[in-house]
Amino acid sequence: MGKPTGFMEFERKNKKEIDVLTRIENFNDFHIPFDLKTQQEQASRCMNCGVPFCQSAMKVNNRNVGCPLSNLIPEWNHLIYLGLFEEAYKRLEKTAPFPEFTGNVCPALCEACCSCSINKESVSIRANELFLIEKAYENGWIKPKKDIKRNNKKVCVIGSGPSGLSAAKKLNDNGFSVTVYEKNDRFGGLLMYGIPNMKVEKKIVERRINLLKEEGITFINNTKIGVDITMDELNEKYDEIVFACGTSFARPLQVKNNDAKGIVYAVDFLTKTTKNLLDGKEFEYNLKDKNVIIVGGGDTANDCCGTAAREKAKSITELEITKEPPLENTLPWPNYPNKKKTDYGVLEANTLMNHDIRRYETTIDEVVKEGDKLVGVYIKKVKFVNDGGKMKLVDVENTREYLPCDYLIIAMGFIGTTTEDLNNYKLDSINNRVKLNNFKYNDKISVCGDMKNGQSLVVIAIKDGIDCAQQIIDKYTN
Ligand code: SF4
Ligand code: SF4
Repeated sequence: MGKPTGFMEFERKNKKEIDVLTRIENFNDFHIPFDLKTQQEQASRCMNCGVPFCQSAMKVNNRNVGCPLSNLIPEWNHLIYLGLFEEAYKRLEKTAPFPEFTGNVCPALCEACCSCSINKESVSIRANELFLIEKAYENGWIKPKKDIKRNNKKVCVIGSGPSGLSAAKKLNDNGFSVTVYEKNDRFGGLLMYGIPNMKVEKKIVERRINLLKEEGITFINNTKIGVDITMDELNEKYDEIVFACGTSFARPLQVKNNDAKGIVYAVDFLTKTTKNLLDGKEFEYNLKDKNVIIVGGGDTANDCCGTAAREKAKSITELEITKEPPLENTLPWPNYPNKKKTDYGVLEANTLMNHDIRRYETTIDEVVKEGDKLVGVYIKKVKFVNDGGKMKLVDVENTREYLPCDYLIIAMGFIGTTTEDLNNYKLDSINNRVKLNNFKYNDKISVCGDMKNGQSLVVIAIKDGIDCAQQIIDKYTN
Protein backbone atom coordinates (compact mmCIF):
# COMPACT_ATOMS: atom_id res chain seq x y z
CA MET A 1 0.00 0.00 0.00
CA GLY A 2 0.94 3.59 -0.41
CA LYS A 3 3.98 4.81 -2.26
CA PRO A 4 6.72 2.67 -0.74
CA THR A 5 9.36 5.36 -1.13
CA GLY A 6 7.21 8.44 -0.43
CA PHE A 7 8.78 9.11 2.96
CA MET A 8 12.23 9.11 1.34
CA GLU A 9 11.28 11.16 -1.70
CA PHE A 10 9.31 13.97 -0.10
CA GLU A 11 10.11 16.17 2.87
CA ARG A 12 7.27 17.09 5.19
CA LYS A 13 5.71 20.39 4.30
CA ASN A 14 3.61 22.58 6.54
CA LYS A 15 0.81 24.66 5.13
CA LYS A 16 1.94 28.16 4.26
CA GLU A 17 0.53 30.95 6.40
CA ILE A 18 -0.32 34.53 5.57
CA ASP A 19 2.48 36.68 7.03
CA VAL A 20 1.92 37.86 10.58
CA LEU A 21 1.55 41.59 10.03
CA THR A 22 -1.02 41.03 7.27
CA ARG A 23 -3.11 38.42 9.04
CA ILE A 24 -3.48 40.36 12.29
CA GLU A 25 -5.51 42.90 10.32
CA ASN A 26 -8.47 40.54 10.57
CA PHE A 27 -9.81 37.47 12.41
CA ASN A 28 -9.85 35.12 9.42
CA ASP A 29 -8.14 31.75 9.07
CA PHE A 30 -4.60 32.44 7.85
CA HIS A 31 -3.53 29.01 6.57
CA ILE A 32 -3.10 28.44 2.85
CA PRO A 33 -4.16 24.90 1.78
CA PHE A 34 -1.74 22.70 -0.18
CA ASP A 35 -2.29 22.37 -3.91
CA LEU A 36 -3.57 18.91 -4.88
CA LYS A 37 -0.18 17.54 -6.00
CA THR A 38 1.51 18.59 -2.75
CA GLN A 39 -1.38 17.18 -0.74
CA GLN A 40 -1.00 13.79 -2.42
CA GLU A 41 2.78 13.83 -2.03
CA GLN A 42 2.40 14.59 1.65
CA ALA A 43 -0.05 11.69 2.06
CA SER A 44 2.37 9.42 0.22
CA ARG A 45 4.93 9.92 3.01
CA CYS A 46 2.86 7.54 5.15
CA MET A 47 4.68 4.20 5.48
CA ASN A 48 1.52 2.24 6.34
CA CYS A 49 3.25 0.91 9.42
CA GLY A 50 2.54 -2.62 10.57
CA VAL A 51 1.88 -1.17 14.00
CA PRO A 52 0.45 2.29 13.30
CA PHE A 53 1.14 4.22 16.50
CA CYS A 54 -0.59 7.24 14.92
CA GLN A 55 -4.02 5.68 15.52
CA SER A 56 -3.21 3.82 18.72
CA ALA A 57 -5.33 5.81 21.24
CA MET A 58 -3.17 4.66 24.14
CA LYS A 59 -1.59 6.15 27.22
CA VAL A 60 2.14 6.17 27.90
CA ASN A 61 3.18 7.50 31.31
CA ASN A 62 -0.37 8.70 31.71
CA ARG A 63 -0.11 10.86 28.59
CA ASN A 64 -2.24 10.41 25.50
CA VAL A 65 -0.38 8.87 22.60
CA GLY A 66 -1.95 8.42 19.17
CA CYS A 67 -5.32 9.60 17.93
CA PRO A 68 -7.93 9.23 20.70
CA LEU A 69 -10.56 8.56 18.04
CA SER A 70 -8.47 5.73 16.53
CA ASN A 71 -8.85 7.39 13.14
CA LEU A 72 -7.94 5.04 10.30
CA ILE A 73 -4.99 7.22 9.35
CA PRO A 74 -2.84 4.94 7.17
CA GLU A 75 -5.90 3.93 5.17
CA TRP A 76 -6.97 7.46 4.30
CA ASN A 77 -3.39 8.58 3.72
CA HIS A 78 -3.06 5.82 1.12
CA LEU A 79 -6.34 6.69 -0.56
CA ILE A 80 -5.42 10.39 -0.72
CA TYR A 81 -2.15 9.42 -2.39
CA LEU A 82 -4.11 7.40 -4.98
CA GLY A 83 -6.48 10.33 -5.55
CA LEU A 84 -9.45 8.31 -4.27
CA PHE A 85 -10.69 11.16 -2.11
CA GLU A 86 -14.28 10.07 -1.63
CA GLU A 87 -13.18 6.60 -0.51
CA ALA A 88 -10.67 8.26 1.81
CA TYR A 89 -13.40 10.44 3.30
CA LYS A 90 -15.58 7.36 3.84
CA ARG A 91 -12.79 5.85 5.96
CA LEU A 92 -12.36 9.11 7.86
CA GLU A 93 -16.05 9.49 8.73
CA LYS A 94 -16.16 6.02 10.26
CA THR A 95 -14.38 7.23 13.39
CA ALA A 96 -14.29 11.03 13.25
CA PRO A 97 -17.64 12.79 13.70
CA PHE A 98 -16.27 16.32 13.18
CA PRO A 99 -12.96 16.28 11.27
CA GLU A 100 -13.40 19.96 10.43
CA PHE A 101 -12.99 20.76 14.15
CA THR A 102 -10.10 18.42 14.91
CA GLY A 103 -8.49 19.24 11.56
CA ASN A 104 -8.30 22.86 12.73
CA VAL A 105 -7.66 22.72 16.47
CA CYS A 106 -6.28 19.30 17.41
CA PRO A 107 -2.67 19.31 18.65
CA ALA A 108 -2.24 16.22 16.45
CA LEU A 109 -1.32 13.59 19.01
CA CYS A 110 -1.14 11.28 15.98
CA GLU A 111 1.75 13.20 14.45
CA ALA A 112 3.81 13.21 17.65
CA CYS A 113 4.00 9.41 17.57
CA CYS A 114 4.12 8.89 13.81
CA SER A 115 6.97 6.51 12.98
CA CYS A 116 8.33 9.02 10.47
CA SER A 117 9.05 11.36 13.37
CA ILE A 118 11.53 8.96 14.99
CA ASN A 119 14.32 10.30 12.85
CA LYS A 120 12.62 12.79 10.52
CA GLU A 121 9.40 14.72 10.41
CA SER A 122 5.97 13.15 10.82
CA VAL A 123 3.37 12.72 8.12
CA SER A 124 1.13 15.81 7.90
CA ILE A 125 -1.86 13.87 9.23
CA ARG A 126 -3.95 16.76 10.51
CA ALA A 127 -3.61 18.67 7.22
CA ASN A 128 -4.68 15.49 5.38
CA GLU A 129 -7.73 15.19 7.63
CA LEU A 130 -8.77 18.78 7.05
CA PHE A 131 -8.23 18.41 3.31
CA LEU A 132 -10.55 15.40 3.22
CA ILE A 133 -13.43 16.92 5.15
CA GLU A 134 -13.32 20.14 3.16
CA LYS A 135 -13.19 18.14 -0.08
CA ALA A 136 -16.20 16.15 1.17
CA TYR A 137 -18.23 19.32 1.85
CA GLU A 138 -17.13 20.86 -1.44
CA ASN A 139 -18.25 17.81 -3.42
CA GLY A 140 -21.49 17.17 -1.57
CA TRP A 141 -20.34 13.81 -0.21
CA ILE A 142 -21.71 14.67 3.21
CA LYS A 143 -25.41 14.08 3.12
CA PRO A 144 -27.66 14.44 6.17
CA LYS A 145 -28.85 11.03 7.31
CA LYS A 146 -32.61 11.04 6.78
CA ASP A 147 -33.44 7.34 7.07
CA ILE A 148 -32.82 6.95 10.80
CA LYS A 149 -35.15 4.41 12.44
CA ARG A 150 -36.39 6.03 15.67
CA ASN A 151 -36.63 4.06 18.93
CA ASN A 152 -39.10 6.37 20.71
CA LYS A 153 -36.55 7.29 23.37
CA LYS A 154 -35.99 10.97 24.09
CA VAL A 155 -32.65 12.37 25.21
CA CYS A 156 -31.65 15.89 26.06
CA VAL A 157 -28.04 17.02 25.90
CA ILE A 158 -27.10 20.05 27.96
CA GLY A 159 -24.35 21.97 26.22
CA SER A 160 -23.44 22.16 22.52
CA GLY A 161 -19.65 22.03 22.75
CA PRO A 162 -17.54 19.21 21.30
CA SER A 163 -18.64 16.48 23.74
CA GLY A 164 -22.32 17.51 23.67
CA LEU A 165 -22.36 17.52 19.88
CA SER A 166 -20.62 14.17 19.54
CA ALA A 167 -22.94 12.56 22.13
CA ALA A 168 -25.97 14.11 20.37
CA LYS A 169 -24.83 12.89 16.94
CA LYS A 170 -24.12 9.35 18.10
CA LEU A 171 -27.46 9.09 19.92
CA ASN A 172 -29.34 10.58 16.98
CA ASP A 173 -27.63 8.23 14.53
CA ASN A 174 -28.81 5.35 16.74
CA GLY A 175 -32.45 6.31 16.72
CA PHE A 176 -32.84 8.47 19.82
CA SER A 177 -34.77 11.74 19.51
CA VAL A 178 -32.26 14.32 20.68
CA THR A 179 -32.71 17.87 21.92
CA VAL A 180 -29.64 20.00 22.63
CA TYR A 181 -29.95 22.90 25.07
CA GLU A 182 -27.44 25.75 24.93
CA LYS A 183 -27.22 28.69 27.35
CA ASN A 184 -25.68 31.01 24.74
CA ASP A 185 -27.28 32.54 21.66
CA ARG A 186 -25.10 30.54 19.25
CA PHE A 187 -24.36 26.81 19.31
CA GLY A 188 -20.95 25.19 19.49
CA GLY A 189 -19.84 25.96 23.06
CA LEU A 190 -16.08 26.26 23.23
CA LEU A 191 -15.86 25.85 19.45
CA MET A 192 -18.09 28.88 18.93
CA TYR A 193 -17.01 31.24 21.70
CA GLY A 194 -13.97 29.76 23.49
CA ILE A 195 -11.70 29.51 20.44
CA PRO A 196 -11.13 32.60 18.28
CA ASN A 197 -12.36 32.84 14.71
CA MET A 198 -8.86 32.73 13.19
CA LYS A 199 -8.35 29.26 14.70
CA VAL A 200 -11.74 27.83 13.81
CA GLU A 201 -13.95 29.98 11.65
CA LYS A 202 -17.48 30.12 13.00
CA LYS A 203 -19.06 29.42 9.64
CA ILE A 204 -17.44 25.96 9.96
CA VAL A 205 -19.19 25.36 13.28
CA GLU A 206 -22.50 26.66 11.91
CA ARG A 207 -22.19 24.43 8.84
CA ARG A 208 -22.01 21.34 11.07
CA ILE A 209 -24.82 22.48 13.37
CA ASN A 210 -27.05 22.97 10.31
CA LEU A 211 -26.23 19.45 9.17
CA LEU A 212 -27.09 18.03 12.59
CA LYS A 213 -30.38 19.94 12.49
CA GLU A 214 -31.14 18.45 9.09
CA GLU A 215 -30.46 15.00 10.56
CA GLY A 216 -33.21 15.58 13.09
CA ILE A 217 -31.52 16.98 16.21
CA THR A 218 -33.45 19.82 17.85
CA PHE A 219 -31.35 22.74 19.08
CA ILE A 220 -32.67 25.20 21.68
CA ASN A 221 -30.55 28.25 22.52
CA ASN A 222 -30.61 30.94 25.24
CA THR A 223 -31.77 28.36 27.77
CA LYS A 224 -30.21 27.90 31.19
CA ILE A 225 -31.01 24.63 32.90
CA GLY A 226 -32.51 25.19 36.33
CA VAL A 227 -33.45 28.76 35.39
CA ASP A 228 -35.36 28.75 32.10
CA ILE A 229 -36.32 25.09 32.34
CA THR A 230 -36.28 23.12 35.58
CA MET A 231 -34.68 19.76 36.23
CA ASP A 232 -38.14 18.42 37.07
CA GLU A 233 -39.37 19.40 33.62
CA LEU A 234 -36.38 17.72 31.99
CA ASN A 235 -36.91 14.58 34.05
CA GLU A 236 -40.51 14.47 32.96
CA LYS A 237 -39.81 15.10 29.28
CA TYR A 238 -36.78 12.91 28.59
CA ASP A 239 -35.74 9.30 29.10
CA GLU A 240 -32.08 10.30 29.40
CA ILE A 241 -30.26 13.49 30.33
CA VAL A 242 -26.65 14.11 29.26
CA PHE A 243 -24.73 16.97 30.83
CA ALA A 244 -21.87 18.24 28.66
CA CYS A 245 -21.43 21.75 30.00
CA GLY A 246 -17.64 21.98 29.97
CA THR A 247 -15.73 23.65 32.78
CA SER A 248 -17.13 27.04 33.59
CA PHE A 249 -15.39 27.81 36.89
CA ALA A 250 -12.15 29.64 35.99
CA ARG A 251 -9.28 29.42 38.48
CA PRO A 252 -9.30 32.79 40.25
CA LEU A 253 -6.43 35.21 40.76
CA GLN A 254 -5.98 35.37 44.51
CA VAL A 255 -4.03 38.56 45.10
CA LYS A 256 -4.71 41.97 46.59
CA ASN A 257 -7.10 44.19 44.56
CA ASN A 258 -8.29 41.35 42.35
CA ASP A 259 -11.64 43.15 41.99
CA ALA A 260 -10.11 45.97 39.89
CA LYS A 261 -11.95 47.00 36.74
CA GLY A 262 -9.84 45.73 33.85
CA ILE A 263 -9.29 42.22 35.19
CA VAL A 264 -11.06 39.77 32.93
CA TYR A 265 -11.17 36.00 32.65
CA ALA A 266 -9.92 34.63 29.33
CA VAL A 267 -13.15 32.75 28.67
CA ASP A 268 -15.20 35.97 29.05
CA PHE A 269 -12.71 37.96 26.99
CA LEU A 270 -12.68 35.45 24.12
CA THR A 271 -16.44 34.88 24.26
CA LYS A 272 -17.34 38.57 24.14
CA THR A 273 -14.73 39.32 21.48
CA THR A 274 -16.05 36.60 19.15
CA LYS A 275 -19.63 37.55 19.86
CA ASN A 276 -18.92 41.22 19.11
CA LEU A 277 -17.10 40.22 15.93
CA LEU A 278 -19.98 38.04 14.71
CA ASP A 279 -22.59 40.63 15.68
CA GLY A 280 -20.62 43.37 13.91
CA LYS A 281 -20.32 45.41 17.10
CA GLU A 282 -17.50 47.39 18.74
CA PHE A 283 -15.33 45.24 20.99
CA GLU A 284 -16.50 45.43 24.59
CA TYR A 285 -12.90 44.72 25.62
CA ASN A 286 -11.11 47.16 23.39
CA LEU A 287 -7.36 46.56 23.82
CA LYS A 288 -6.20 49.10 21.25
CA ASP A 289 -3.25 51.10 22.62
CA LYS A 290 -3.63 49.39 26.00
CA ASN A 291 -1.06 47.62 28.14
CA VAL A 292 -2.20 44.01 28.28
CA ILE A 293 -0.89 41.26 30.54
CA ILE A 294 -2.02 37.66 30.07
CA VAL A 295 -1.54 35.23 32.95
CA GLY A 296 -1.12 31.63 31.82
CA GLY A 297 0.83 29.73 29.21
CA GLY A 298 -1.63 27.29 27.64
CA ASP A 299 -3.65 27.29 24.44
CA THR A 300 -6.19 29.76 25.83
CA ALA A 301 -3.45 32.24 26.78
CA ASN A 302 -2.06 31.84 23.28
CA ASP A 303 -5.49 32.61 21.80
CA CYS A 304 -5.64 35.74 23.97
CA CYS A 305 -2.20 36.81 22.66
CA GLY A 306 -3.43 36.45 19.07
CA THR A 307 -6.58 38.41 19.89
CA ALA A 308 -4.61 41.17 21.65
CA ALA A 309 -2.31 41.41 18.62
CA ARG A 310 -5.33 41.82 16.33
CA GLU A 311 -6.72 44.54 18.56
CA LYS A 312 -3.34 46.32 18.38
CA ALA A 313 -2.53 46.44 22.06
CA LYS A 314 0.27 48.84 22.99
CA SER A 315 2.11 46.17 24.95
CA ILE A 316 1.46 42.44 25.40
CA THR A 317 3.14 40.40 28.13
CA GLU A 318 2.46 36.75 28.93
CA LEU A 319 3.31 35.47 32.40
CA GLU A 320 3.95 31.76 32.78
CA ILE A 321 4.40 30.19 36.17
CA THR A 322 6.41 27.25 34.85
CA LYS A 323 10.05 27.07 33.84
CA GLU A 324 10.99 27.92 30.28
CA PRO A 325 10.74 24.58 28.40
CA PRO A 326 13.91 23.23 26.78
CA LEU A 327 14.61 24.15 23.17
CA GLU A 328 15.28 20.50 22.31
CA ASN A 329 12.72 17.78 23.02
CA THR A 330 13.50 15.86 26.23
CA LEU A 331 10.96 13.05 25.88
CA PRO A 332 11.61 10.04 23.67
CA TRP A 333 9.27 8.94 20.89
CA PRO A 334 6.32 8.13 21.03
CA ASN A 335 5.64 10.76 23.74
CA TYR A 336 4.21 14.13 22.82
CA PRO A 337 7.32 16.34 22.62
CA ASN A 338 8.39 18.39 25.63
CA LYS A 339 10.02 21.48 24.19
CA LYS A 340 9.42 25.18 23.88
CA LYS A 341 6.93 25.92 21.16
CA THR A 342 5.75 29.21 19.86
CA ASP A 343 2.14 28.93 18.80
CA TYR A 344 0.44 31.31 16.39
CA GLY A 345 -0.82 33.86 18.94
CA VAL A 346 2.46 34.23 20.78
CA LEU A 347 4.27 34.47 17.45
CA GLU A 348 1.96 37.29 16.39
CA ALA A 349 2.39 39.14 19.68
CA ASN A 350 6.18 38.62 19.54
CA THR A 351 6.26 40.03 16.01
CA LEU A 352 4.13 43.02 16.90
CA MET A 353 6.11 43.76 20.08
CA ASN A 354 9.45 42.96 18.50
CA HIS A 355 10.53 40.74 21.41
CA ASP A 356 9.53 37.48 23.09
CA ILE A 357 6.57 38.48 25.23
CA ARG A 358 6.84 35.45 27.57
CA ARG A 359 8.19 35.77 31.08
CA TYR A 360 8.68 32.40 32.72
CA GLU A 361 8.57 31.50 36.44
CA THR A 362 6.71 34.75 36.94
CA THR A 363 3.35 35.56 38.44
CA ILE A 364 1.27 38.44 39.79
CA ASP A 365 2.09 39.58 43.32
CA GLU A 366 -0.35 42.46 43.61
CA VAL A 367 -2.80 44.40 41.50
CA VAL A 368 -2.61 48.20 41.67
CA LYS A 369 -5.76 50.22 41.12
CA GLU A 370 -6.74 53.86 41.10
CA GLY A 371 -10.31 54.20 42.29
CA ASP A 372 -11.75 50.92 41.03
CA LYS A 373 -9.66 50.90 37.85
CA LEU A 374 -6.67 48.68 37.20
CA VAL A 375 -3.53 50.69 36.43
CA GLY A 376 -0.70 48.24 37.00
CA VAL A 377 0.56 45.07 38.60
CA TYR A 378 3.51 44.01 40.69
CA ILE A 379 4.96 40.78 39.35
CA LYS A 380 7.45 38.47 41.03
CA LYS A 381 9.65 35.53 40.14
CA VAL A 382 8.69 32.16 41.58
CA LYS A 383 10.05 28.62 41.42
CA PHE A 384 8.90 25.13 42.25
CA VAL A 385 10.93 23.37 44.94
CA ASN A 386 10.72 19.80 46.20
CA ASP A 387 9.25 19.88 49.68
CA GLY A 388 9.34 16.35 51.10
CA GLY A 389 8.29 14.75 47.82
CA LYS A 390 5.73 17.40 46.92
CA MET A 391 6.38 20.31 44.58
CA LYS A 392 5.82 23.65 46.26
CA LEU A 393 5.80 27.11 44.71
CA VAL A 394 8.05 29.63 46.49
CA ASP A 395 8.84 33.29 45.83
CA VAL A 396 12.27 34.35 44.68
CA GLU A 397 13.39 37.21 46.91
CA ASN A 398 13.85 40.76 45.64
CA THR A 399 12.25 40.14 42.26
CA ARG A 400 9.18 42.34 42.63
CA GLU A 401 8.70 44.56 39.62
CA TYR A 402 5.99 47.02 38.54
CA LEU A 403 4.36 46.85 35.12
CA PRO A 404 1.69 49.27 33.91
CA CYS A 405 -1.44 47.35 32.95
CA ASP A 406 -4.86 48.34 31.61
CA TYR A 407 -6.16 44.82 30.99
CA LEU A 408 -5.16 41.76 32.97
CA ILE A 409 -6.44 38.60 31.26
CA ILE A 410 -6.58 35.51 33.46
CA ALA A 411 -6.01 32.26 31.58
CA MET A 412 -5.00 30.03 34.49
CA GLY A 413 -7.26 27.09 33.70
CA PHE A 414 -10.48 25.86 35.22
CA ILE A 415 -11.50 24.26 38.50
CA GLY A 416 -14.76 22.60 37.41
CA THR A 417 -18.42 23.55 37.27
CA THR A 418 -19.48 26.69 39.12
CA THR A 419 -21.37 26.23 42.38
CA GLU A 420 -24.25 28.25 40.93
CA ASP A 421 -24.56 25.93 37.93
CA LEU A 422 -24.31 22.82 40.12
CA ASN A 423 -27.10 24.16 42.30
CA ASN A 424 -29.23 24.91 39.25
CA TYR A 425 -28.60 21.42 37.90
CA LYS A 426 -29.24 19.90 41.36
CA LEU A 427 -26.11 17.75 41.04
CA ASP A 428 -24.00 16.62 44.01
CA SER A 429 -20.32 17.40 43.72
CA ILE A 430 -16.95 17.34 45.43
CA ASN A 431 -14.70 20.36 44.83
CA ASN A 432 -16.96 21.52 42.00
CA ARG A 433 -16.71 18.19 40.17
CA VAL A 434 -19.89 16.12 39.79
CA LYS A 435 -19.85 12.80 41.68
CA LEU A 436 -19.85 10.11 39.01
CA ASN A 437 -19.52 6.43 38.42
CA ASN A 438 -17.84 6.39 35.04
CA PHE A 439 -20.30 8.53 32.97
CA LYS A 440 -23.26 7.92 35.25
CA TYR A 441 -24.57 10.30 37.88
CA ASN A 442 -27.64 8.13 38.35
CA ASP A 443 -29.71 5.81 36.21
CA LYS A 444 -31.01 8.68 34.10
CA ILE A 445 -28.30 11.33 34.15
CA SER A 446 -24.89 11.02 32.45
CA VAL A 447 -22.04 13.52 32.34
CA CYS A 448 -19.29 13.71 29.72
CA GLY A 449 -16.49 15.84 28.29
CA ASP A 450 -14.63 18.48 30.28
CA MET A 451 -17.44 18.58 32.82
CA LYS A 452 -16.49 14.99 33.72
CA ASN A 453 -12.73 14.96 33.02
CA GLY A 454 -11.72 18.55 33.66
CA GLN A 455 -10.16 20.79 31.03
CA SER A 456 -8.85 18.74 28.12
CA LEU A 457 -8.50 18.62 24.35
CA VAL A 458 -11.35 18.98 21.84
CA VAL A 459 -10.56 15.54 20.41
CA ILE A 460 -10.79 13.95 23.86
CA ALA A 461 -14.09 15.70 24.55
CA ILE A 462 -15.44 14.38 21.24
CA LYS A 463 -14.35 10.85 22.11
CA ASP A 464 -15.89 11.17 25.56
CA GLY A 465 -19.24 12.22 24.07
CA ILE A 466 -19.17 9.18 21.78
CA ASP A 467 -18.39 6.81 24.67
CA CYS A 468 -21.06 8.36 26.86
CA ALA A 469 -23.64 7.96 24.10
CA GLN A 470 -22.58 4.36 23.54
CA GLN A 471 -23.26 3.59 27.19
CA ILE A 472 -26.80 4.91 26.81
CA ILE A 473 -27.28 3.04 23.52
CA ASP A 474 -26.12 -0.19 25.20
CA LYS A 475 -28.64 0.30 27.99
CA TYR A 476 -31.51 0.16 25.52
CA THR A 477 -30.17 -2.49 23.20
CA ASN A 478 -28.67 -5.12 25.54
S1 SF4 B 1 -8.22 13.96 15.55
FE1 SF4 B 1 -6.23 14.82 16.14
S2 SF4 B 1 -5.06 13.05 16.80
FE2 SF4 B 1 -6.78 12.26 15.58
S3 SF4 B 1 -6.06 12.12 13.48
FE3 SF4 B 1 -7.00 14.11 13.70
S4 SF4 B 1 -5.31 15.49 14.20
FE4 SF4 B 1 -4.62 13.39 14.62
S1 SF4 C 1 2.69 6.10 12.13
FE1 SF4 C 1 2.98 7.66 10.49
S2 SF4 C 1 3.95 6.51 8.84
FE2 SF4 C 1 3.07 4.98 10.22
S3 SF4 C 1 1.01 4.56 9.45
FE3 SF4 C 1 0.80 6.22 10.91
S4 SF4 C 1 0.94 8.10 9.67
FE4 SF4 C 1 1.73 6.43 8.44
